[in-house]
Amino acid sequence: MKKILLLFLFFVLVAGGAFISITRDWQAPEIKLPETKYVNHELLGTASDNRGLGEICYYLDGKSDNKTCLNAGGSAGYEIKVDLSAIVDGEHEVCISAADGNRVFPNKADLCRSYTLDKVPPKGVLEAATRYMQRGGAAAVFVSTPEPETDLQVMVGNYQFPFMSSADGTRHFAVFAHPHDIEMADFKPLVQIKDLAGNTRRLLIGTNSKDRVFNTDNLNVPHSFIESKALEMLNKEGSDKETFLEMNRTVRAASRDKLKSETSAAEAIAPMWHGAFYRNAGAPKAQFADHRTYLLDNEKIDQQIHFGLDIAGLAAMPIRAANDGVVAFADYVGIYGNCILVNHGAHVSTLYAHLSQIDVTPGTKVSKEQIIGRSGNTGMAGGDHLHYATYVADVPVEPTEWFDPAWLKTRIDDIYQQFKATE
Ligand SMILES: [Zn+2]
Repeated sequence: MKKILLLFLFFVLVAGGAFISITRDWQAPEIKLPETKYVNHELLGTASDNRGLGEICYYLDGKSDNKTCLNAGGSAGYEIKVDLSAIVDGEHEVCISAADGNRVFPNKADLCRSYTLDKVPPKGVLEAATRYMQRGGAAAVFVSTPEPETDLQVMVGNYQFPFMSSADGTRHFAVFAHPHDIEMADFKPLVQIKDLAGNTRRLLIGTNSKDRVFNTDNLNVPHSFIESKALEMLNKEGSDKETFLEMNRTVRAASRDKLKSETSAAEAIAPMWHGAFYRNAGAPKAQFADHRTYLLDNEKIDQQIHFGLDIAGLAAMPIRAANDGVVAFADYVGIYGNCILVNHGAHVSTLYAHLSQIDVTPGTKVSKEQIIGRSGNTGMAGGDHLHYATYVADVPVEPTEWFDPAWLKTRIDDIYQQFKATE
Protein backbone atom coordinates (compact mmCIF):
# COMPACT_ATOMS: atom_id res chain seq x y z
CA MET A 1 0.00 0.00 0.00
CA LYS A 2 2.85 2.40 0.86
CA LYS A 3 4.53 1.54 -2.46
CA ILE A 4 1.38 2.41 -4.40
CA LEU A 5 1.09 5.74 -2.55
CA LEU A 6 4.72 6.59 -3.36
CA LEU A 7 4.21 5.65 -7.01
CA PHE A 8 1.12 7.86 -7.14
CA LEU A 9 3.04 10.78 -5.60
CA PHE A 10 5.80 10.25 -8.14
CA PHE A 11 3.32 10.44 -11.01
CA VAL A 12 1.73 13.60 -9.63
CA LEU A 13 5.16 15.24 -9.44
CA VAL A 14 6.13 14.18 -12.98
CA ALA A 15 2.78 15.23 -14.45
CA GLY A 16 2.85 18.53 -12.52
CA GLY A 17 6.40 19.25 -13.65
CA ALA A 18 5.53 18.45 -17.24
CA PHE A 19 2.40 20.63 -17.04
CA ILE A 20 4.35 23.61 -15.68
CA SER A 21 7.16 23.20 -18.20
CA ILE A 22 4.65 23.08 -21.07
CA THR A 23 2.65 26.06 -19.87
CA ARG A 24 5.80 28.09 -19.17
CA ASP A 25 6.80 27.46 -22.78
CA TRP A 26 3.98 29.65 -24.06
CA GLN A 27 5.05 33.07 -25.25
CA ALA A 28 3.06 36.28 -25.29
CA PRO A 29 1.38 37.09 -28.65
CA GLU A 30 3.02 39.53 -31.02
CA ILE A 31 0.88 42.54 -31.99
CA LYS A 32 1.42 44.86 -34.94
CA LEU A 33 -0.22 48.18 -35.78
CA PRO A 34 0.30 50.10 -39.05
CA GLU A 35 3.17 52.57 -38.84
CA THR A 36 1.33 55.39 -40.55
CA LYS A 37 0.34 58.75 -39.11
CA TYR A 38 -3.00 59.24 -40.84
CA VAL A 39 -5.96 56.87 -40.86
CA ASN A 40 -9.57 57.14 -41.95
CA HIS A 41 -12.50 54.77 -41.43
CA GLU A 42 -10.64 51.78 -40.06
CA LEU A 43 -7.26 50.31 -39.47
CA LEU A 44 -6.03 46.76 -39.41
CA GLY A 45 -3.99 45.40 -36.54
CA THR A 46 -2.51 41.92 -36.52
CA ALA A 47 -1.75 39.51 -33.71
CA SER A 48 0.22 36.31 -34.01
CA ASP A 49 1.19 33.53 -31.65
CA ASN A 50 3.06 30.36 -32.53
CA ARG A 51 0.81 28.27 -30.24
CA GLY A 52 -2.50 29.92 -31.07
CA LEU A 53 -4.43 33.02 -30.06
CA GLY A 54 -7.29 33.45 -27.63
CA GLU A 55 -9.11 36.70 -27.07
CA ILE A 56 -8.15 39.83 -29.05
CA CYS A 57 -9.50 43.25 -28.10
CA TYR A 58 -9.11 46.84 -29.09
CA TYR A 59 -9.88 50.04 -27.23
CA LEU A 60 -9.45 53.73 -27.93
CA ASP A 61 -7.93 56.64 -26.02
CA GLY A 62 -7.01 54.59 -22.94
CA LYS A 63 -10.59 53.44 -22.29
CA SER A 64 -9.57 49.88 -21.41
CA ASP A 65 -12.94 49.33 -19.67
CA ASN A 66 -14.64 49.77 -23.05
CA LYS A 67 -13.04 47.10 -25.18
CA THR A 68 -14.29 45.51 -28.38
CA CYS A 69 -13.28 41.86 -28.25
CA LEU A 70 -13.43 38.71 -30.30
CA ASN A 71 -12.06 35.22 -29.99
CA ALA A 72 -9.38 34.14 -32.44
CA GLY A 73 -10.20 30.49 -31.69
CA GLY A 74 -6.63 29.28 -31.49
CA SER A 75 -5.46 30.52 -34.91
CA ALA A 76 -1.75 31.39 -35.23
CA GLY A 77 -2.34 34.75 -36.92
CA TYR A 78 -5.36 37.04 -36.75
CA GLU A 79 -6.30 40.36 -38.30
CA ILE A 80 -8.38 42.68 -36.17
CA LYS A 81 -10.27 45.51 -37.83
CA VAL A 82 -10.46 48.64 -35.68
CA ASP A 83 -13.63 50.47 -36.65
CA LEU A 84 -13.15 54.23 -36.48
CA SER A 85 -16.18 55.27 -38.51
CA ALA A 86 -18.11 56.61 -35.51
CA ILE A 87 -15.13 58.46 -33.99
CA VAL A 88 -14.64 62.19 -34.39
CA ASP A 89 -11.63 63.23 -36.53
CA GLY A 90 -8.50 64.24 -34.61
CA GLU A 91 -5.71 62.64 -32.57
CA HIS A 92 -6.57 59.24 -31.11
CA GLU A 93 -4.71 56.42 -29.42
CA VAL A 94 -5.53 52.90 -30.62
CA CYS A 95 -4.63 49.98 -28.36
CA ILE A 96 -4.80 46.29 -29.10
CA SER A 97 -4.55 43.62 -26.44
CA ALA A 98 -4.26 39.95 -27.18
CA ALA A 99 -4.06 36.75 -25.15
CA ASP A 100 -2.78 33.42 -26.39
CA GLY A 101 -4.80 30.22 -26.31
CA ASN A 102 -3.38 28.94 -23.03
CA ARG A 103 -6.48 28.37 -20.89
CA VAL A 104 -4.67 28.04 -17.57
CA PHE A 105 -2.01 30.73 -17.70
CA PRO A 106 -2.86 32.95 -20.70
CA ASN A 107 0.04 35.16 -21.82
CA LYS A 108 -1.07 38.65 -22.72
CA ALA A 109 0.34 41.51 -24.76
CA ASP A 110 -0.67 45.12 -25.36
CA LEU A 111 0.29 47.62 -28.07
CA CYS A 112 -0.80 51.23 -28.45
CA ARG A 113 -0.15 53.81 -31.17
CA SER A 114 -1.36 57.34 -31.80
CA TYR A 115 -3.00 58.27 -35.09
CA THR A 116 -4.47 61.32 -36.73
CA LEU A 117 -7.98 60.36 -37.75
CA ASP A 118 -9.13 62.10 -40.94
CA LYS A 119 -12.29 60.99 -42.72
CA VAL A 120 -12.75 64.07 -44.90
CA PRO A 121 -11.95 63.46 -48.58
CA PRO A 122 -9.48 65.95 -50.08
CA LYS A 123 -10.92 68.81 -52.09
CA GLY A 124 -9.98 69.66 -55.63
CA VAL A 125 -11.03 72.13 -58.29
CA LEU A 126 -10.86 71.39 -61.99
CA GLU A 127 -9.33 74.67 -63.20
CA ALA A 128 -8.81 73.91 -66.89
CA ALA A 129 -8.83 70.98 -69.29
CA THR A 130 -8.62 70.32 -73.02
CA ARG A 131 -12.14 70.44 -74.44
CA TYR A 132 -11.75 68.20 -77.47
CA MET A 133 -9.48 65.27 -78.20
CA GLN A 134 -9.51 62.14 -80.33
CA ARG A 135 -9.15 58.44 -79.62
CA GLY A 136 -5.44 57.64 -79.55
CA GLY A 137 -4.62 61.29 -78.87
CA ALA A 138 -3.55 63.44 -75.92
CA ALA A 139 -5.05 66.19 -73.73
CA ALA A 140 -4.11 68.17 -70.62
CA VAL A 141 -5.69 69.08 -67.28
CA PHE A 142 -4.94 71.59 -64.51
CA VAL A 143 -6.29 71.00 -60.99
CA SER A 144 -5.91 73.00 -57.79
CA THR A 145 -6.25 71.71 -54.23
CA PRO A 146 -6.77 73.90 -51.12
CA GLU A 147 -4.43 71.60 -49.17
CA PRO A 148 -1.07 70.39 -50.48
CA GLU A 149 -1.58 66.98 -52.11
CA THR A 150 1.01 64.57 -53.43
CA ASP A 151 -1.02 61.64 -54.74
CA LEU A 152 -2.93 62.63 -57.87
CA GLN A 153 -3.57 60.72 -61.06
CA VAL A 154 -5.66 60.89 -64.18
CA MET A 155 -7.46 57.57 -64.50
CA VAL A 156 -8.74 56.39 -67.89
CA GLY A 157 -10.02 52.85 -67.51
CA ASN A 158 -7.04 50.90 -66.21
CA TYR A 159 -4.58 53.50 -67.46
CA GLN A 160 -3.00 56.01 -65.08
CA PHE A 161 -1.29 59.30 -65.87
CA PRO A 162 0.79 61.10 -63.23
CA PHE A 163 0.60 64.80 -62.39
CA MET A 164 3.37 67.28 -61.83
CA SER A 165 2.76 69.67 -58.91
CA SER A 166 3.77 73.22 -57.98
CA ALA A 167 6.37 73.61 -55.23
CA ASP A 168 3.69 74.27 -52.59
CA GLY A 169 1.74 71.17 -53.68
CA THR A 170 -1.55 72.96 -54.37
CA ARG A 171 -1.53 73.16 -58.18
CA HIS A 172 -1.22 70.16 -60.48
CA PHE A 173 -0.81 69.63 -64.22
CA ALA A 174 -1.04 66.42 -66.23
CA VAL A 175 -1.01 65.32 -69.83
CA PHE A 176 -3.22 62.28 -70.41
CA ALA A 177 -4.37 60.16 -73.33
CA HIS A 178 -7.40 58.44 -74.74
CA PRO A 179 -5.60 55.11 -75.23
CA HIS A 180 -6.45 53.57 -78.60
CA ASP A 181 -8.05 50.48 -77.01
CA ILE A 182 -10.45 52.35 -74.71
CA GLU A 183 -13.89 52.22 -76.29
CA MET A 184 -15.84 55.48 -76.57
CA ALA A 185 -18.43 54.36 -73.99
CA ASP A 186 -15.63 53.63 -71.50
CA PHE A 187 -13.80 56.91 -71.96
CA LYS A 188 -14.48 58.84 -68.73
CA PRO A 189 -11.24 60.49 -67.66
CA LEU A 190 -11.14 61.19 -63.92
CA VAL A 191 -8.76 63.01 -61.62
CA GLN A 192 -8.19 60.94 -58.51
CA ILE A 193 -6.81 62.72 -55.45
CA LYS A 194 -5.77 60.57 -52.51
CA ASP A 195 -4.76 62.08 -49.16
CA LEU A 196 -2.41 60.63 -46.56
CA ALA A 197 -5.27 59.03 -44.62
CA GLY A 198 -6.39 57.19 -47.77
CA ASN A 199 -9.48 59.31 -48.48
CA THR A 200 -10.07 59.79 -52.19
CA ARG A 201 -11.81 62.43 -54.26
CA ARG A 202 -12.66 61.95 -57.90
CA LEU A 203 -13.29 64.74 -60.36
CA LEU A 204 -14.72 64.10 -63.80
CA ILE A 205 -12.73 65.73 -66.60
CA GLY A 206 -15.29 66.75 -69.18
CA THR A 207 -13.02 66.36 -72.21
CA ASN A 208 -14.94 65.21 -75.30
CA SER A 209 -13.23 62.57 -77.38
CA LYS A 210 -13.91 61.75 -81.01
CA ASP A 211 -13.78 58.20 -82.27
CA ARG A 212 -11.60 57.28 -85.21
CA VAL A 213 -10.99 54.26 -87.35
CA PHE A 214 -7.43 53.02 -87.47
CA ASN A 215 -5.84 51.65 -90.63
CA THR A 216 -5.59 47.98 -91.38
CA ASP A 217 -2.58 46.66 -93.24
CA ASN A 218 -1.45 43.28 -94.58
CA LEU A 219 2.25 42.50 -94.42
CA ASN A 220 3.82 39.67 -96.39
CA VAL A 221 6.73 38.28 -94.44
CA PRO A 222 9.57 36.86 -96.60
CA HIS A 223 11.43 33.85 -95.23
CA SER A 224 14.67 35.74 -95.89
CA PHE A 225 13.52 38.46 -93.46
CA ILE A 226 12.88 35.91 -90.70
CA GLU A 227 16.26 34.31 -91.40
CA SER A 228 18.25 37.53 -91.07
CA LYS A 229 16.28 38.83 -88.06
CA ALA A 230 16.45 35.49 -86.22
CA LEU A 231 20.23 35.80 -86.20
CA GLU A 232 20.13 39.43 -85.06
CA MET A 233 17.30 39.28 -82.51
CA LEU A 234 17.32 35.68 -81.29
CA ASN A 235 20.93 34.74 -82.06
CA LYS A 236 19.74 31.56 -83.75
CA GLU A 237 19.00 30.29 -87.24
CA GLY A 238 15.52 29.78 -88.59
CA SER A 239 13.11 31.02 -91.24
CA ASP A 240 9.85 29.38 -90.20
CA LYS A 241 6.60 30.49 -88.64
CA GLU A 242 7.64 29.62 -85.06
CA THR A 243 10.80 31.69 -85.32
CA PHE A 244 8.81 34.64 -86.64
CA LEU A 245 6.19 34.35 -83.88
CA GLU A 246 8.89 34.20 -81.23
CA MET A 247 10.14 37.58 -82.46
CA ASN A 248 6.79 39.15 -83.26
CA ARG A 249 5.05 38.05 -80.05
CA THR A 250 7.53 37.14 -77.31
CA VAL A 251 10.26 39.64 -78.17
CA ARG A 252 7.68 42.33 -79.05
CA ALA A 253 5.92 41.99 -75.68
CA ALA A 254 9.24 42.05 -73.79
CA SER A 255 10.41 45.08 -75.80
CA ARG A 256 7.19 46.98 -75.07
CA ASP A 257 7.50 46.15 -71.37
CA LYS A 258 11.08 47.38 -71.40
CA LEU A 259 10.03 50.69 -72.98
CA LYS A 260 7.09 51.01 -70.61
CA SER A 261 9.45 50.74 -67.67
CA GLU A 262 11.87 53.24 -69.25
CA THR A 263 9.13 55.79 -69.93
CA SER A 264 7.78 55.32 -66.39
CA ALA A 265 11.26 55.66 -64.91
CA ALA A 266 12.06 58.86 -66.82
CA GLU A 267 12.77 61.73 -64.46
CA ALA A 268 9.71 63.87 -63.59
CA ILE A 269 10.59 67.27 -65.04
CA ALA A 270 8.70 70.35 -66.21
CA PRO A 271 7.90 70.64 -69.93
CA MET A 272 11.08 71.44 -71.89
CA TRP A 273 9.53 71.62 -75.36
CA HIS A 274 9.34 74.88 -77.27
CA GLY A 275 6.73 74.99 -79.98
CA ALA A 276 5.63 72.18 -82.27
CA PHE A 277 7.57 68.91 -82.36
CA TYR A 278 9.88 68.46 -85.35
CA ARG A 279 9.00 65.70 -87.82
CA ASN A 280 12.03 64.00 -89.30
CA ALA A 281 12.04 64.25 -93.12
CA GLY A 282 10.97 61.31 -95.26
CA ALA A 283 7.92 59.57 -96.64
CA PRO A 284 5.29 58.24 -94.21
CA LYS A 285 5.20 54.43 -94.43
CA ALA A 286 2.98 53.41 -91.54
CA GLN A 287 0.69 55.28 -89.15
CA PHE A 288 -0.11 55.22 -85.46
CA ALA A 289 -2.25 52.26 -84.34
CA ASP A 290 -2.27 50.54 -87.74
CA HIS A 291 -3.78 47.09 -87.23
CA ARG A 292 -1.35 44.78 -89.01
CA THR A 293 -1.97 41.26 -90.25
CA TYR A 294 1.16 39.25 -90.96
CA LEU A 295 1.13 36.70 -93.80
CA LEU A 296 3.65 33.93 -94.39
CA ASP A 297 3.20 31.98 -97.65
CA ASN A 298 -0.31 33.54 -97.86
CA GLU A 299 -1.25 32.20 -94.42
CA LYS A 300 -2.37 34.69 -91.75
CA ILE A 301 0.01 33.98 -88.89
CA ASP A 302 -0.20 36.99 -86.58
CA GLN A 303 -1.83 40.33 -85.80
CA GLN A 304 -0.22 43.29 -84.04
CA ILE A 305 -0.83 46.99 -83.55
CA HIS A 306 1.80 49.48 -84.69
CA PHE A 307 2.30 52.22 -82.09
CA GLY A 308 4.37 54.72 -84.04
CA LEU A 309 4.94 56.51 -87.27
CA ASP A 310 7.29 54.98 -89.85
CA ILE A 311 9.28 57.49 -91.88
CA ALA A 312 11.55 56.37 -94.72
CA GLY A 313 14.14 58.60 -96.34
CA LEU A 314 17.73 58.07 -97.33
CA ALA A 315 19.64 55.16 -95.84
CA ALA A 316 21.47 56.10 -92.64
CA MET A 317 19.87 59.56 -92.70
CA PRO A 318 20.58 61.82 -89.72
CA ILE A 319 17.86 61.58 -87.07
CA ARG A 320 16.98 64.74 -85.16
CA ALA A 321 15.39 65.19 -81.73
CA ALA A 322 11.76 66.29 -82.09
CA ASN A 323 12.09 68.87 -79.34
CA ASP A 324 14.17 69.96 -76.36
CA GLY A 325 14.57 67.27 -73.75
CA VAL A 326 16.86 64.91 -71.90
CA VAL A 327 17.92 61.50 -73.24
CA ALA A 328 16.22 59.01 -70.91
CA PHE A 329 17.43 55.83 -72.57
CA ALA A 330 19.69 54.80 -75.48
CA ASP A 331 20.36 51.12 -76.20
CA TYR A 332 19.37 48.05 -78.23
CA VAL A 333 15.85 46.75 -77.34
CA GLY A 334 14.42 43.72 -79.20
CA ILE A 335 11.97 44.75 -81.93
CA TYR A 336 13.06 48.42 -81.72
CA GLY A 337 16.74 47.63 -82.35
CA ASN A 338 19.01 50.54 -81.48
CA CYS A 339 16.71 53.17 -80.04
CA ILE A 340 16.70 56.48 -78.20
CA LEU A 341 14.05 57.72 -75.79
CA VAL A 342 13.94 61.48 -75.16
CA ASN A 343 12.12 62.84 -72.10
CA HIS A 344 10.49 66.19 -72.91
CA GLY A 345 8.98 66.76 -69.44
CA ALA A 346 5.42 66.45 -68.08
CA HIS A 347 5.81 62.68 -68.69
CA VAL A 348 5.88 63.17 -72.49
CA SER A 349 8.64 61.35 -74.38
CA THR A 350 9.57 60.45 -77.95
CA LEU A 351 11.17 57.28 -79.31
CA TYR A 352 13.51 56.90 -82.30
CA ALA A 353 13.93 53.24 -83.30
CA HIS A 354 15.70 50.90 -85.77
CA LEU A 355 18.76 53.19 -85.74
CA SER A 356 22.08 52.19 -87.27
CA GLN A 357 23.91 54.63 -85.00
CA ILE A 358 23.30 56.25 -81.61
CA ASP A 359 25.10 59.56 -80.98
CA VAL A 360 23.85 60.38 -77.47
CA THR A 361 23.95 58.86 -73.99
CA PRO A 362 21.34 58.86 -71.21
CA GLY A 363 21.31 62.12 -69.27
CA THR A 364 22.38 64.21 -72.29
CA LYS A 365 20.34 67.37 -72.85
CA VAL A 366 19.26 67.67 -76.45
CA SER A 367 17.69 70.57 -78.30
CA LYS A 368 15.05 70.54 -81.02
CA GLU A 369 16.41 69.30 -84.37
CA GLN A 370 19.76 68.28 -82.87
CA ILE A 371 21.15 65.17 -84.60
CA ILE A 372 21.03 62.24 -82.15
CA GLY A 373 21.70 59.26 -84.42
CA ARG A 374 21.27 57.72 -87.87
CA SER A 375 18.42 55.67 -89.31
CA GLY A 376 18.83 51.97 -90.00
CA ASN A 377 17.01 48.64 -89.95
CA THR A 378 17.98 47.17 -86.58
CA GLY A 379 15.28 45.25 -84.70
CA MET A 380 12.03 44.27 -86.47
CA ALA A 381 12.61 46.43 -89.56
CA GLY A 382 12.57 45.17 -93.13
CA GLY A 383 14.33 48.21 -94.56
CA ASP A 384 16.03 51.43 -93.47
CA HIS A 385 13.46 53.70 -91.81
CA LEU A 386 12.74 55.63 -88.63
CA HIS A 387 10.11 54.29 -86.26
CA TYR A 388 9.03 57.39 -84.35
CA ALA A 389 6.68 57.16 -81.37
CA THR A 390 5.28 59.57 -78.78
CA TYR A 391 4.43 58.48 -75.24
CA VAL A 392 2.36 60.09 -72.52
CA ALA A 393 3.49 58.35 -69.34
CA ASP A 394 3.86 54.78 -70.65
CA VAL A 395 1.04 55.01 -73.21
CA PRO A 396 1.81 55.49 -76.92
CA VAL A 397 -0.22 58.30 -78.51
CA GLU A 398 -0.81 59.73 -81.98
CA PRO A 399 2.52 61.46 -82.77
CA THR A 400 1.24 63.72 -85.58
CA GLU A 401 -0.82 65.89 -83.16
CA TRP A 402 2.41 67.13 -81.62
CA PHE A 403 3.72 68.31 -85.05
CA ASP A 404 0.81 70.77 -85.29
CA PRO A 405 1.57 74.13 -83.61
CA ALA A 406 -2.12 75.11 -83.31
CA TRP A 407 -3.04 71.77 -81.73
CA LEU A 408 -0.13 71.92 -79.28
CA LYS A 409 -0.95 75.48 -78.25
CA THR A 410 -4.70 75.06 -77.67
CA ARG A 411 -4.77 71.47 -76.37
CA ILE A 412 -1.67 71.33 -74.17
CA ASP A 413 0.34 74.55 -73.83
CA ASP A 414 -2.59 76.87 -73.00
CA ILE A 415 -3.57 74.59 -70.10
CA TYR A 416 0.04 74.49 -68.93
CA GLN A 417 0.30 78.30 -69.12
CA GLN A 418 -2.74 78.61 -66.82
CA PHE A 419 -1.09 76.24 -64.36
CA LYS A 420 2.15 78.26 -64.61
CA ALA A 421 0.44 81.67 -64.36
CA THR A 422 -0.81 80.98 -60.84
CA GLU A 423 2.68 80.10 -59.56
ZN1 LIG B 1 7.34 51.27 -87.01
